[in-house]
Amino acid sequence: MAVVKRTFDVVVVGAGGAGMRAALALSEAGLKVAVLSKVFPTRSHTVAAQGGIAASLGNVTADSWHWHMYDTVKGSDYLGDQDAIEFMCRAAPEVVYELEHYGMPFDRLDNGKIYQRPFGGHMQDYGKNTVQRACAAADRTGHALLHTLYQQNVQANTNFFVEWMALDLIRDQDGDVLGVVAMEIETSEVMVLHARATLFATGGAGRIFQASTNAYINTGDGLGMAARAGIPLQDMEFYQFHPTGVYGAGVLITEGVRGEGGYLVNKDGERFMPKYAPTAKDLASRDVVSRAIATEIKEGRGCGPHGDHIMLKVDHIGEDVIKQRLPGIRDIAIKFAHVDPAHDPIPIVPTAHYMMGGIPTNYHAQVVAPYHGGPEEIVQGFYAVGECACVSVHGANRLGCNSLLDLLVFGREAARQIIEDLERHPHPKLLPRDAADRALARLARLESQDKGESVAEVGADMRRVMQMHCGVFRFPDLLADGVTKIRAVAERAKHTAIKDKSRVFNTARVEALELDNLIEVALATMHAAHAREESRGAHAREDFPNRDDDKWLKHSLYSREGHHLDYKPVRLKPLTVDSFPLKARVY
Ligand SMILES: Cc1cc2nc3c(=O)[nH]c(=O)nc-3n(C[C@H](O)[C@H](O)[C@H](O)COP(=O)(O)OP(=O)(O)OC[C@H]3O[C@@H](n4cnc5c(N)ncnc54)[C@H](O)[C@@H]3O)c2cc1C
Repeated sequence: MAVVKRTFDVVVVGAGGAGMRAALALSEAGLKVAVLSKVFPTRSHTVAAQGGIAASLGNVTADSWHWHMYDTVKGSDYLGDQDAIEFMCRAAPEVVYELEHYGMPFDRLDNGKIYQRPFGGHMQDYGKNTVQRACAAADRTGHALLHTLYQQNVQANTNFFVEWMALDLIRDQDGDVLGVVAMEIETSEVMVLHARATLFATGGAGRIFQASTNAYINTGDGLGMAARAGIPLQDMEFYQFHPTGVYGAGVLITEGVRGEGGYLVNKDGERFMPKYAPTAKDLASRDVVSRAIATEIKEGRGCGPHGDHIMLKVDHIGEDVIKQRLPGIRDIAIKFAHVDPAHDPIPIVPTAHYMMGGIPTNYHAQVVAPYHGGPEEIVQGFYAVGECACVSVHGANRLGCNSLLDLLVFGREAARQIIEDLERHPHPKLLPRDAADRALARLARLESQDKGESVAEVGADMRRVMQMHCGVFRFPDLLADGVTKIRAVAERAKHTAIKDKSRVFNTARVEALELDNLIEVALATMHAAHAREESRGAHAREDFPNRDDDKWLKHSLYSREGHHLDYKPVRLKPLTVDSFPLKARVY
């Protein structure tokens, strides 16, 4: 197959908030930047973010970056790296004001300042009271953010490759990364994008689960590509279940609803969160609220004929507030749950939402990994930001509104680091001869195989196994079985056949390529969850109900070869302040 080659200074894979924030700074610095996206940039999953961006502006209630840092460390169940968390929380006000100056239409207070709402796990004075820290544009914050960044990128002359799918990384024999191989979705044309720096911003992988708030395109492609290129994946056992996905549909109802005064009730109409979190109540951290809901359901206090969900009550905050602050939520409730929240409660259930793990990086977004079994080192030319990266600022559990913040802070920092690195290494390395081989081999397999299971069947089984065996609560026998089952599904995925080879929209081919990536993520998640014998943040084991800092205060690193698990220490030392000592986590 003839493969076209193009050369750029930087290739960014992903046009969500993370990719576009980085691309903007890179293009503004005069670099030649290519941004690839499977969908039109403003359709990336960031567009669906509802609640807000966390920053200690203190516009409504007194606030400080150090309280924000404390909340993030505590929310992470002490698995977050405190240097990266300090870096992020300190930078938060600045990146929000930058965004404001780029034209982001934030909601305003009467005095003209940015409106801020309360959000789960964000507190004042080291956990004493809730604080108003989430900067919001109604319940469409991600939409506003993504459109703002896209417009700025158009102005800065970023080159967009829309509906292009990156297939694999190019790594030479020194382990350096030299770009990606990509395919145009409509035509199947393959291209080598040779670059001095490659930045992954491919987002999450919620589609490994049956019930997920994520978009269909969130298939963990960046993680699959990194794993196939020999990079381990970090902390994959930690997958956040959002407490309030619409029952039966999975669509997200933002925590902002509880921030505006909504609360959860069981079938007896009892407001149950004060039992589980006396101070923060319905605004406790997400893992805490999800487990409380799962417990209410398990103990027979769930709602509906099957007793399998809970209700979110909002009507008491008044129709006017709902229309002004939560218009999108009202639409979602009417369309997907057939209730108007101004009058009736919304049926909800915990739903897979956010991947805390990812490609291991330091807080400059440089990918850090061992090469050929050696010590950990910076992978030259390779960077990752956003949900696909594990910095790690979210540790074992992310706080709401800290992801959009993560995109902005580390997107900007990745650009700064890339500019510095390119000044130091001005000349591109030569492409290896076999640059496109791995990607071409994957495509050739799809072309040649006519007999085999359908991608849809194997994908459905993968999602079923993950949902059943690796959910909100994790049981030892289910995990052990899950490992066997997910490996069997992975074997089947190698022998799928695509029946419809027409090039029109090419969805069959794209879904087969995505399944390869989903399987890598699912394998990593199941193996790492089976191995971690403690409960921490989003990882709740029935057989090991407590956090075990002596044995398990460490990050996991899953390698694809041999499903091998390794561990590395948590960076407990912040940059300039004292460490927050380990404590039991109560809300
Ligand atoms: C419903 C919902 C609501 C949320 N609300 C909030 C909130 O209020 N506050 C908050 O902080 N966080 C929120 N989050 C989390 C947050 O929105 C996401 O973690 C974040 O937006 C991810 O951004 P990203 O830039 O990393 O990736 P995404 O926005 O997911 O973008 C990924 C990009 O990568 C591209 N891509 C992927 N694979 C390939 C490939 N192989 N080739 C080419 N391109 C590829 C995609 O096309 C896309 O452009 C929410 C998440 C969801 C699902």
